[in-house]
Order: sequence, then C-alpha cells, then structure tokens
Amino acid sequence: MKKIIITSALLYLSFSLLAQMVPGDTEWYAPIPPKVSPANKPGAAPSDAIILFNGEDLSMWKGEKGDAQWEIRNGELTVKPGTGSIMTRQHFGDVQLHIEFKSPAPGQHSGQNRGNSGIFLQSTYEVQVLDGDNNDTYVNGMVGSIYKQQAPLANAYTHNGEWQVYDIYWRGPRFDIESKLESPAIITVVLNDILVQNNFVLKGHTPYIGYPAYTPHGLLPLMLQDHGTEVAYRNIWIREL
Ligand code: MG
Repeated sequence: MKKIIITSALLYLSFSLLAQMVPGDTEWYAPIPPKVSPANKPGAAPSDAIILFNGEDLSMWKGEKGDAQWEIRNGELTVKPGTGSIMTRQHFGDVQLHIEFKSPAPGQHSGQNRGNSGIFLQSTYEVQVLDGDNNDTYVNGMVGSIYKQQAPLANAYTHNGEWQVYDIYWRGPRFDIESKLESPAIITVVLNDILVQNNFVLKGHTPYIGYPAYTPHGLLPLMLQDHGTEVAYRNIWIREL
C-alpha cells in the first residue's frame, strides 16, 4: 500500500514537472555541426574527405621500408607482390573510410590465395579483402570478415573482375593513462551497399595464428596488405571523426 502511494506521488510529481516544460527545454543550438557537401556522384569523396588515392600518385603512402612500390595503371593502384604492405603517411584514429577493390583473375588459386589483401585500420585490425566469388574458405576469413574474429552477415561480393565497394566506419580502441583497455574498437562495414558488420566489438588485433589481444597504441596509419596477389584498389578516401 505504502509503495503504491509513493509511486503515485512520484508519478504526479513527474507529470506536473512535465506540464511546466516548454519545447525549448530540450532543444539546443550549439555547437553547430560543420557543413559538409556530399559529392555529386555516389561513392565520390565529400568536401571534407582526405583523398588517399586519386588514381594518380602514391604521395599519401609509404612502404614498409622507404617509398611505396605498388603499381599505378589506368587510375588503379595494384599490389606489387613481394614489395610489402603500404601505409598512409598520416596517422588516424576514428574514421569513415571508402575504398574500392578488384580481385585478380583466379587462375589456379583457391581459398586464401585468391585475391588476398587486407585493410588494416590503425595498422592493426584487418578487414579482409578476398575474392568472394565461389571461393571456399573459413568464413571468419572470407571477404567482409574481421579476420579470424567475425564472419560477415552476408556474402555481398559480386563477381571476380568487378569492382567491390567497401564503406567502413571505425571507432578505435581507447586506453587509459595506465595503458589499460578502456573501451574496445567497434566497426561497421558495408560492402556493395550491404551491411556485413554491424557495430562489431573487436577482441583485439587480428593475427593469422593465435588469439586476438589488445596492445596499447595511439593514432596509427591505415595499412593495405601485400599478401602476394595483384589486388587492385581505387577511389580511396577517408574522413576523420
Ligand atoms: Mg588478408
């Protein structure tokens, strides 16, 4: 009985407070979000994006040792096997990334050897790049996977020889002043306009052998993997968040 009386009193109080409110109590006007103009065609860079590859040069990138050695032909950037992964000169934290890739002709290759490359957020966490056209492999290593952590929600790859479009939304991990993990990384991945990772919470880095773990770090370059096959990339842009 006492409980009912108290609950009723609280309800009455909140209703009467609500009755005194005006719409403006829950509206604010600052800070004003920056004006960003979208591109005039889908997939092109909006006004505040950093263009990482515009089809012409590798000025935004470097190699594991010295300059990036990958090839540029017809506006496409192609992995030159054996020359190593490439990374941006600029370091990043939270980002929105747009990147398009095309797998090479499969030849005799299968599984992980068919068009393998990778997009490493903060040089550490891999979104797998792989030919997904009738290509059997472990599902947490297929195209759209967070390598060895999470299979994609769908196989959104189209056909070998066609351009595939990734849009990636990344929130990097946070570490406290004692270097302890404060909050893990979270990723959303859209492949060809289809959601394949929905706010997936990463368990750590994405090793080939062993289990994921976190090692404290700050801003780091975006890295593209040389895994020995001639995967092509184009139209790479990024927005810092
Ligand atoms: Mg890979």
